[in-house]
Amino acid sequence: MLTAEKIRARSDIELFNKLNRHADVKRVKEQLEREADKGPAGVRRRLLATSVRLSKEMAPEIRAIADDCTQRLGITIPVEIYVYASPSYNAACVKPEEGRLFIMFSSSLLERFDAGELRFVMGHELGHYLYHHHDIPIGYLLMGKHRPSPSLALQLFAWSRYAEISADRAGAHCAQDFESVGRGLFKLASGLSGDVVTFNLRDFLLQIDEMQSSDAESAQGAPMEDWFSTHPFSPLRVKALQMFHESDLVVERGMAAAELEAQVTSLMGLMEPSYLESKTEAAEAMRRLLFAGAITVADSAEGISRQEIAAFEQFFGEHSFKESFDVQQIKGGLDERIEHARELASHAQCTQVIRDLCVIARADDHVAPGERKALLQIALKLDVGMPFVERCLATDTELD
Ligand SMILES: [Zn+2]
Repeated sequence: MLTAEKIRARSDIELFNKLNRHADVKRVKEQLEREADKGPAGVRRRLLATSVRLSKEMAPEIRAIADDCTQRLGITIPVEIYVYASPSYNAACVKPEEGRLFIMFSSSLLERFDAGELRFVMGHELGHYLYHHHDIPIGYLLMGKHRPSPSLALQLFAWSRYAEISADRAGAHCAQDFESVGRGLFKLASGLSGDVVTFNLRDFLLQIDEMQSSDAESAQGAPMEDWFSTHPFSPLRVKALQMFHESDLVVERGMAAAELEAQVTSLMGLMEPSYLESKTEAAEAMRRLLFAGAITVADSAEGISRQEIAAFEQFFGEHSFKESFDVQQIKGGLDERIEHARELASHAQCTQVIRDLCVIARADDHVAPGERKALLQIALKLDVGMPFVERCLATDTELD
């Protein structure tokens, strides 16, 4: 029989284990455990004060869906369901407290999602609990007083995207209906209720094929800043789920599990900064741009700090930063490298470089006005929007 444990994405497991061994992750977890020893964090108290708990009497259908999903996933912890007023579709799973798990939904989601779609969302949220995703306190790590190293930040982003893939599979396992799953993800992505638009799964998936082909051509595509969030872009998630549904985890004589994971990794590669290792001309131009951009941004406020050197070396390797660098000359050559990257790399790839430059700017715990200005100037020349830069600099991240 197919158990929920078996369908967890392989890269989720691998990155999860790797992160759990990371010294900084361990340190933050120990800190949080010491806090927890002092008593419950008051999550339930806060939920009771700000949201409405749905009892079995109030919402028998939603309760039935929850019971069915927990059974399917083999979850035994008591689940409390809360709803809060919001016009946007959202759901979240809150780390258990006092032996109870909390799932919260926005009011609009509960009103506009049908039973099949709701089973998917419910299963997705329960999946986060089932796969222990709360064990890595990503929000604390990214937003805490001590910012994580660039390599840790990138690993956290990558892991959280695979964590969503696992949670989606748990959701699909609960929904048992790919059409509902696709429709649910479409509603989440578009904010539409389905009243004015007829959902078409095939067309929704076509969006991914276009993304992949425009990436291959390395043409100046549409702005694709949304790829760089902790959550995988929705059509990517649908595509990953379609592959899952075609695998032998779901159907007899389907694609082998190893092949599934390889395909998912290549799909998710659309969101990863593989240019640091890649041998293509475009990747080379991106590295050269990152190099000069990093020096320029780091030097734009009070010289290049120790943390900035450390961040730089996370990208280019240990001892790659040399005191002998002619900083002024490197800064002087930046525009030429920007031009070169614009010629050879796609817009999405240029966006990746900007994201990585944000990591440099955030290396010492604050982003100085001079650093922000230098970054925005580079972004402007690459046609990367200011909102994207601001979002990368803020990086407010929680699993939901
Ligand atoms: Zn999620």
